[in-house]
Amino acid sequence: MLACLDLEGVLLPEIWVKFAEKTGIEELKLTTRDIPDYDELMQARLKILADHNLKIHDIQKVIATLSPLEGAVDFLQWLKSEFQVIILSDTYYEFIGPLMKQLDYPTVFCHSLVIDENGIIADYKLRQTDQKTKAVKALQSLNFQVISAGDSYNDTGMLQQADGGILFCPPENVIKDFPQFPVAKNYAEFKSLLISTKEKILNR
Ligand SMILES: [Mg+2]
Repeated sequence: MLACLDLEGVLLPEIWVKFAEKTGIEELKLTTRDIPDYDELMQARLKILADHNLKIHDIQKVIATLSPLEGAVDFLQWLKSEFQVIILSDTYYEFIGPLMKQLDYPTVFCHSLVIDENGIIADYKLRQTDQKTKAVKALQSLNFQVISAGDSYNDTGMLQQADGGILFCPPENVIKDFPQFPVAKNYAEFKSLLISTKEKILNR
C-alpha cells in the first residue's frame, strides 16, 4: 500500500506565502483565491519576480532559510516505516530543492520551471494537468492500493481517486465542501487516521 502525500500545508509551509514574508514583497501573497486562473496567477508571479530582478538563485537562497512544519520530519520518518511514500505536489523542483535535504530526500512528483541562461525564470511547465489524480490512478493500475492525504482543493481529486482519503489541517471551506473525508488536525491524529484507513482498506 502506498501513501501519496501533498507537500505544502502538510510537510512544508506554503512556499510563495513564506517567500513573500521573507522578502517583504506583498504582491507575492497572491493565491488562487485572488486570481482563480492558475496560468494568469503564475504569469503575474513571474512578472513580479522579474520586476524585483529576482533570479532562481536569489529565490533558492531565501527558500533555503525555510524549515519544514514542526513535527514534519519525525512524521515523515514514521510514515515511511508504515507505507511506501510518494509526495505529489503542485510546486516546482527548482523551489523545493533546498528543502528536500531537511526532509531526507523523499520521492516527489511535481512540476518544473523554465530557467534561461541568465537564471531568470522565463516560464513554468506543468507535468500535466491534475497530475495528482492521474498519478494515483496510474499507481492503482499497477495494482497498488493508495491512501492520499492533503490540505486543499487541489488535493480533493486524488483523495477521491484513492482507496482512502484524509484531509490534514484543511481550511474550513474545504471541510464544508468535502464532508466525506476524515480530518486530522495534528500529526498524532493524522497517524491514527492513516492506520485506521489502512486497516479498513485491507479488511474490504
Ligand atoms: Mg497543500
